[in-house]
Amino acid sequence: MNDLIAVRCHACNVGMKIKPEYAGKLRKCPKCGEIFVVPHKDGVGIAPPQELLEKIRQQSAAQTSAESKPQESPISAPMPQFQQEPQEEGASSPYAAPSDSIVVPEEETIHPVDHPKRLDPQFRYVILNSEKMIAYWQMSTGWQVNDGTRLVSAKRNSQLLPKQGDFRFIEMQFGEVDGEFRITKLRIFQLASQYSVSKIAGDEGEVLTTITRAAGLTRSQKGALLQGLKAHFMRSVWADSPAIYEYLFNEDFHSSEI
Ligand SMILES: [Zn+2]
Repeated sequence: MNDLIAVRCHACNVGMKIKPEYAGKLRKCPKCGEIFVVPHKDGVGIAPPQELLEKIRQQSAAQTSAESKPQESPISAPMPQFQQEPQEEGASSPYAAPSDSIVVPEEETIHPVDHPKRLDPQFRYVILNSEKMIAYWQMSTGWQVNDGTRLVSAKRNSQLLPKQGDFRFIEMQFGEVDGEFRITKLRIFQLASQYSVSKIAGDEGEVLTTITRAAGLTRSQKGALLQGLKAHFMRSVWADSPAIYEYLFNEDFHSSEI
């Protein structure tokens, strides 16, 4: 399993792991349905040339009208045109024909790289959308949702949880620095744009399975995080960590780990 290629969809950025034998071949994104060429090493899927996409569309349209198999995804149909192209062993055309259906098998679907696998009782977690803090987790209270003025139980107020948006999940690590309680590290991830945050009303850790990739914060998300920090912690907790202070106030810092 360790030599799977970590690929991100060029269209929706979802992360997935793909068997190396698919490198150079067409795959379909399990999330948004875009077709891409699997890179030979970890990276972003390559958008196939327009002509190739046209061919696939025409072919699948012909296929569906000829055979009308509604249960089958149109692009999972065989593509004889590409199979006719000469293909020598080892000579890998970047657009080599898929050897089988190009629908991504279940075990290879969304499988993000290096993200928290469980909520750590020592840490705190924050979820933001593009303009405000939506939810906050700490061991003693579990997930709480921001109702506009205060934090209330996410389980009992699931109607407050947005179904879609540009969500960031932030892991805040804490520690003692010079005898003071401080944030020592932030890790920031993007969540799937739909039905990710709504999971916090159920199993507390399930939202972790909707992480799509590591991501930075936009300017307004930094503002939202700052509001949350001001509301819930003494200033020294975040403002006395120079790297974190700098990150929050410097628009040019976009890293996903601070
Ligand atoms: Zn996609």
